[in-house]
Amino acid sequence: MARTAPPPADPAERIFRSEEELAQLPASERIRYRLVQADRRYHANDNIAAFVRDGELAELKAEVQAKMHEVLRALVIDTESDHNTNETAQRVAKMYVEEVFRGRYVPMPSVTEFPNVERLNELMIVGPITVRSACSHHMCPIFGRVWIGILPNEHSNLIGLSKYARIADWIMSRPQIQEEAVTMLANELQERVRPDGLAIVMEADHFCMHWRGVKDTDSAMVNSVMRGAFLKDANLRREFLSLLPRKQAA
Ligand SMILES: [Zn+2]
Repeated sequence: MARTAPPPADPAERIFRSEEELAQLPASERIRYRLVQADRRYHANDNIAAFVRDGELAELKAEVQAKMHEVLRALVIDTESDHNTNETAQRVAKMYVEEVFRGRYVPMPSVTEFPNVERLNELMIVGPITVRSACSHHMCPIFGRVWIGILPNEHSNLIGLSKYARIADWIMSRPQIQEEAVTMLANELQERVRPDGLAIVMEADHFCMHWRGVKDTDSAMVNSVMRGAFLKDANLRREFLSLLPRKQAA
């Protein structure tokens, strides 16, 4: 399969551009330039908010709209006289940048952490959290549910229940691969909460399986991540898994 070459990692290979030169470029090129200069990865599921400056999201949206218009043209759709597709390019651009892929372009929602003053050390389960994402392969929707198990210790930080959903939403609002999404979520929570054990289970419906390909109507994918105490302690793992509601019969 043909893949585009990765950006040059060697600083000597990087082309230097002045601020004036950068200002002439489309916003996507300016942002990409900053990412390459910083040697930062910008895969579909990476957050690049730190490289986007004020006003550039509006420019990106305009760029996506223009390219989307070209896609519709290439599909031989008469967007001029077809009132249904008249503003489709604009709608899709807005949906990508401001809604479904928003988690790439905005910083993580602010989360207040509280010290564990009560010294809670019992298994805590949060979920199901409804998550919406899109697969990186086909940009088709993914709808799913996530359960999070936390085993805190006295040094753990606690975060409000609603914050788990906000962090999950931030990570899922990007073109994702389910396995990588749960790992990203686990890394974020591990860093913030610092529990003794962390478990995440995600069960999701991939619309690329329904809409295209095998057109399977009854396939859900389940992924889990187990860390710390959940890896070492089979009883804890069993307790967590037994507390999750069984998958509803179709
Ligand atoms: Zn897919």
